[in-house]
Amino acid sequence: MDMYEKVIELARRRGFIWPAFELYGGSAGFYDYGPLGAPLKRGIEDLWRGFFVIREGFCEIECPTIGVEEIFKASGHLSGFSDPLTECQECREIYRADHLIKHIVEVPDALANEEIYRVIKENDVFCPECGGDLSEIYEFNLMFRTSIGPGGKQPGYLRPETAQGMFVNFQRLLRHYRDRLPFGAVQIGKSYRNEISPRQGVIRLREFTQAEAEIFINPADKSHPRFGEVADLVLTLYSQEAQERGEAEEMTVSEAVAKGIIAHEILGYYVARTYQFLLEAGLSEDKLRFRQHKADEMAHYAADCWDAEALLDRFGWIEIVGVADRTNYDLRSHMAQSQANLTVYLPLDLPRREERLVVRPDMKRLGPLFRKGAKAVADALSALPMEELKRDPIVVVVDGERVEVDPDLVAFEMEEVEVRGEEVVPHVIEPSFGIDRILYSVLEHSYREEEVEGETRAVLALKNRVVPIQVAVLPLMDRDELSGPAEEIARELRALDLRVEYDSSGSIGRRYRRNDEVGTPYSITIDYETLEEGTVTIRDRDSMAQIRVARSEIAEKIPALLRGERGFSEAGTPLGG
Ligand code: AMP
Repeated sequence: MDMYEKVIELARRRGFIWPAFELYGGSAGFYDYGPLGAPLKRGIEDLWRGFFVIREGFCEIECPTIGVEEIFKASGHLSGFSDPLTECQECREIYRADHLIKHIVEVPDALANEEIYRVIKENDVFCPECGGDLSEIYEFNLMFRTSIGPGGKQPGYLRPETAQGMFVNFQRLLRHYRDRLPFGAVQIGKSYRNEISPRQGVIRLREFTQAEAEIFINPADKSHPRFGEVADLVLTLYSQEAQERGEAEEMTVSEAVAKGIIAHEILGYYVARTYQFLLEAGLSEDKLRFRQHKADEMAHYAADCWDAEALLDRFGWIEIVGVADRTNYDLRSHMAQSQANLTVYLPLDLPRREERLVVRPDMKRLGPLFRKGAKAVADALSALPMEELKRDPIVVVVDGERVEVDPDLVAFEMEEVEVRGEEVVPHVIEPSFGIDRILYSVLEHSYREEEVEGETRAVLALKNRVVPIQVAVLPLMDRDELSGPAEEIARELRALDLRVEYDSSGSIGRRYRRNDEVGTPYSITIDYETLEEGTVTIRDRDSMAQIRVARSEIAEKIPALLRGERGFSEAGTPLGG
């Protein structure tokens, strides 16, 4: 069994994750989160909220998971979010065509479809399953399409990312932040991609959860006021250059920014926050790196892009987060599509003087001539460039109609004006997290096996912040005189908002093992000494050490242990053994 199989087996058996619709044979790319998986996922999402909503001061919004066509025209998903496919003429199996020529061409996704087909033909590439001939290449859009309302006339698409919600709401968000930059908005929610053949289990899903932040910044200022907080953090960076050499390097964030390896402070800042978040969620430091997109892999509009990658036993380095400087691409695209003004007025530090064309339509004479339409004619005149104003007659188009105006009715000249600010399309920094991949990586990186008294003990060393069961309450035996006080302790801890598991089934040893396997950091055992002396045993998952604590101190000590405010051995009287 490799690590993936072990973790997935445990996850299924203990109720973290399992394939969805099993009752009907399942469907690749869909998974359920079970009784332990759902709270673990929520724990990771809440940790993320702590980082990106609370501590950054960003707002969280929630938008529909179905979007109208215009959104995806603007975002490019309608035309560009597709994969090249080929079909075996014999067994009808479908493949990503570019994947079939990976061993022949270094960057197959840079090739046009005809070129991919040529490479397939010239190199005798056949169906990997049956050796049959492969078809010509065709594009398959990864968005799930549906229709809105009856009649099927209005197409809708299940969103392939959450980011568009922040872009289409830009104007409202800007107002919420009192028309000032920088500001950020985030969304945690489901995204959908009709992946071609999701063979990587929980790594490539057709429905998954993203947590994305869109941070709108002044393009002229890519420094970050809190950069100092993360400047000395050492990261494993796999830059474009390092990839040429084939070896990642360790470096502080400030050094990486100073050397121009990471494009600027803001990007460096969010790469660093991503790193801190992933460690707190439970990823292993030595199985985590940041890889810069290569020039041919980076979107044409992006200024710089770094992926956080987790090392997984079966899959190698897998992208779990992307942090990109997307410049003003998204807002520009939505401006072009919607004709709305998605700019911000930024006051200049120092007003500057500038030559400007100033147009003054003579309203006293335009009024009687054009009556109600005079204002519209004047506005159209004011928007004309110099060459047009020099014509005789001057021609403007108002409400689709051509209107001729005598040049005597308009005065214009170049004037020096004072400019106090300008309209700017903000740049966007986007940290984009795949929660499901992070959750699986947390499970795999937290899993370990060790020999204890001739038996294998499996432990999921989950972090207290995200662990689904924070404390187990275990009566030594399922007898009324023990279960009564045990249930009372469970109630008391639940009243403190702790996630408590009460378990009285099976031997105490088996119950400890079960809790080790699901990551429960502390187990409280209630025995006959509890009745006589008023004390309980608390067992620590990682060290298996046990301490004796007064019954009356549980409500104070367990939360303190969970918050890491107390060392385990100082929290009570150690038990020998
Ligand atoms: P992308 O927009 O492709 O950069 O994706 C952003 C993040 O979403 C990635 O870093 C992944 O963690 C996650 N992600 C993308 N596609 C999938 C998928 N099919 N299944 C699970 N997670 C995904």
